[in-house]
Amino acid sequence: MVVQKFGGTSVADPAAVRRLIEIVRTARARDGRGPAVVVSAMSGVTDLLLGIASAAGSSSGMSGALERIEQLRERHLAMARDLVPEPERDALLDEINTTLNQLAAVVQALAVLREVSPRTLDVIAAMGELLSSRVVAAALTAAGIPAEWVDARRAIVTTADHMRATPLAAETAQALRAIVVPALDAKRVPVLGGFVGATVHGNTTTLGRGGSDYSGALVGAGIGAREIQIWTDVDGMLTADPRVIRQPRLVPKLSFAEAAELAYFGAKVLHPSTILPAVERNIPVRILNSMRPEGPGTLITAEPSLDGTPLTGLASKGNVVVVDITSTRMLMAYGFLRRVFEVFERFSTAVDVVTTSEVSVSVTVDDAKAIPAITEALSEFAEVSTESDMALLCAVGDRLRDEPEIAARVVSVLEEVPLRMISQAASRRNITVVLRQADLAHAMQRLHEEFFQ
Ligand code: ASP
Ligand code: MG
Repeated sequence: MVVQKFGGTSVADPAAVRRLIEIVRTARARDGRGPAVVVSAMSGVTDLLLGIASAAGSSSGMSGALERIEQLRERHLAMARDLVPEPERDALLDEINTTLNQLAAVVQALAVLREVSPRTLDVIAAMGELLSSRVVAAALTAAGIPAEWVDARRAIVTTADHMRATPLAAETAQALRAIVVPALDAKRVPVLGGFVGATVHGNTTTLGRGGSDYSGALVGAGIGAREIQIWTDVDGMLTADPRVIRQPRLVPKLSFAEAAELAYFGAKVLHPSTILPAVERNIPVRILNSMRPEGPGTLITAEPSLDGTPLTGLASKGNVVVVDITSTRMLMAYGFLRRVFEVFERFSTAVDVVTTSEVSVSVTVDDAKAIPAITEALSEFAEVSTESDMALLCAVGDRLRDEPEIAARVVSVLEEVPLRMISQAASRRNITVVLRQADLAHAMQRLHEEFFQ
């Protein structure tokens, strides 16, 4: 059976929830039971809740905060009225009102205390998912799919690091087996809010912004799902940034390792760290568009993707600075690289690409804040020059590992573009070039034409 996680836009309004219902119905018909459903808050709700919390901490923000609570109440009540008929509707309306009354009470207390602790912020931020999951569970049941609301605070057990809590693997797996599996066995569809958990003492926590994907992966791993589906508002992962390439292609399939490389270089793709429990258990993850459920989506699996196009995708990072560092000492002095990287470490500056020759090393940095201080520190033992307005262009594909001609093709396609650095890292599934920012769009177009069109 599958786990279906629906993002904020996929539960944003009654029409979206109706699409969700049909998606769930289809999965259920195919598998004979399930699926387990994880939902985000309705789009915009988490931001609104956090805004309410911060406004509540100041006396002047109080009335605005209460007004926004009423907007939230109206939005959820309207959903309930649209999706759930009488008499079941009444219980849902009560739940919504109770949650929002609690929110109003917390906000009033904050106005007195004038201080919002991370623990309180979590109580507030969690309400978006607690509400949306109630609405979806009731809407499914009303549509003839028996569903059971699962309180995520009982199912996802976490550390007490509020606002970015880490799930406790064994405790969470046990809780999921105790709560979610029986619902599935009873042929009900368990519905739980993503993003939310609680400590062993029952204090509400959240997993960090965007954490619902993580919840989906946890549930998938906990119940041993055969697939985790991430339903969103795009068709899947694209071969290149659509702001640069007019018609990027959909990537049908890629490996977790490729996804990690692309995400690191800024591609809009699910970052494997957000689906770690699925990666660890080798459970395939599929990204799908809830507006066009018939589309194939993008499948992310553990196996290297060797059967598709020679490259899997392109990603880029603009506005990077290249720092060239040349040893002023004799040739082959050992310890040079150590000293160089110590300086970057001292100024907490991450380095993306590194190329070296006998006496010099070039690195790229995308956070230029500390560059003046770094330059000064490096100048004590090296000659340093920097060049800004540079960009990284990264071509990713598992086939790069065993087919050296692909890397050669990448470089030769870019022959008329001045390349400042070229690097193929140890993973050998990416080749990265550093070029002028001004050349980035053209270079990306050339590569895209060559490999994807
Ligand atoms: N609602 C949360 C957020 O907006 C979690 C999520 O949607 O993944 O960050
Ligand atoms: Mg999200």
